Amino acid sequence: MPAPRVRLVLGDITAVEVDAVVNAANSRLLGGGGVDGAIHRRGGPEVLAACRELRATTLPDGLPTGQAVATTAGRLPARWVVHTVGPVHSRREDRSHLLAAAYRSSLAVAEELAARSVAFPAVSAGVYGWPIDSAADIAVGTVLAHRAGTVVDVRFVLFGEAAYAAFERALAERLPAT
Ligand code: ADP
Repeated sequence: MPAPRVRLVLGDITAVEVDAVVNAANSRLLGGGGVDGAIHRRGGPEVLAACRELRATTLPDGLPTGQAVATTAGRLPARWVVHTVGPVHSRREDRSHLLAAAYRSSLAVAEELAARSVAFPAVSAGVYGWPIDSAADIAVGTVLAHRAGTVVDVRFVLFGEAAYAAFERALAERLPAT
């Protein structure tokens, strides 16, 4: 099975029409800043209600770093939000495996949902402080290593030229022009 087709998009992930939108959430799953805030604002109260329900049932201690879970997408132009928690960047400790796990877990949840198209933000590259070149390399490397079942279309939706350029470089390194 081949890797999914990967595309880069410059803009706001809450406007993208896909089956599953990945949220760079935090462990509490109750909203936050950055992309998480934008997804809850545009998705509306149904998304928060679904997160609260998860906290009250299967995830009383929250969602561990590197894992993923799906909810309704509410009013977003998507079917599901896949919430994942990336690691906070550390200079003392290499947490790359946790960032890769966040992408892998999100893809696994999307496959369980039989999603075809998935949009990812640059997980951990905002408030969690991950340097964008490294974040892009891990993101692209992990998605290209995925053996696609239903998920055949992955879009990285980058908020700003610098993030877009970093993902372009990462993609060019992994997929040299043939
Ligand atoms: P984290 O806490 O995982 O670092 P953030 O939301 O702070 O998550 O940032 C992750 C990335 O998402 C950053 O590159 C940030 O610029 C970007 N971002 C913020 N808002 C949006 C949005 N509406 N659409 C796409 N990307 C966004």
